[in-house]
Amino acid sequence: LLEAEGIRKIFGKLTALDGAALTVGENEFHGLIGPNGSGKSTLMKCIAGAEVPTQGKVSFINTDITAFTPSERARAGMSLKFQITSVLPTLTLYDNILLALQGHCSLLDLVFSRSRRQLHDQVMMTLTQFRLADRAFDAAATLSHGQQQWLEIAMALASKPQLLLLDEPTGGMSLEERRVTGELLRPIKQHCSLVIVEHDLDFIRDICDRLTVLDQGRVLATGSVAEIQANKSVQEIYLRRA
Ligand code: ATP
Ligand code: MG
Repeated sequence: LLEAEGIRKIFGKLTALDGAALTVGENEFHGLIGPNGSGKSTLMKCIAGAEVPTQGKVSFINTDITAFTPSERARAGMSLKFQITSVLPTLTLYDNILLALQGHCSLLDLVFSRSRRQLHDQVMMTLTQFRLADRAFDAAATLSHGQQQWLEIAMALASKPQLLLLDEPTGGMSLEERRVTGELLRPIKQHCSLVIVEHDLDFIRDICDRLTVLDQGRVLATGSVAEIQANKSVQEIYLRRA
């Protein structure tokens, strides 16, 4: 589904990514882990088109999308949620989801190509999936921190993407909220692949099929969760951190 290869990203004098690669299959949950500053967010941005790689190639559904803009990538079926929030706090949850949908086509398309009923159903279905339906007409600002994160994931999924990119979606969540996040994400595997950046290794192990470990802008290891857990150099960087 997704193949990023030879990704280099240079910021001035700093080499954030030095030939990083990432391959994700259909209906695969892929965890991207590594120490702070190892280039995880930068790689996610290069995949999503928010950063332009200095060098390298990104293919998505057998198409070279290296030169695609973020909105072209979104139309091709890619969706992302980053560390920085995109929820508009004064709007209702309902309107936030509607706006997220609008990001993937023009507002006119949205109004003329689909009946209001269909649009309404899609928004409510997305909110229901994320256990937020009873709050649909409350302002997003009234949600708890964890619920706001769920709303953002719901927004990223509203357009039914084939690939979802999540950069630290459980940041600042309680243990219980993390557990629920895992539960909310699992069912999307039926129709969507996921690349997720997380520092919580238990969480990552729990939901991912495969992992890629970045260290100083390079891939240290990639493989199944069991393979990565058994990998000596991966254990070393985590020991170094502890
Ligand atoms: P964290 O776990 O802390 O989120 P990360 O693995 O996501 O870290 P990145 O944010 O990708 O790491 O950063 C990789 C390196 O690139 C870091 O040294 C960072 O300071 C640098 N960097 C990232 N974005 C920029 C930017 N826009 N301009 C300059 N340097 C940047
Ligand atoms: Mg990051």
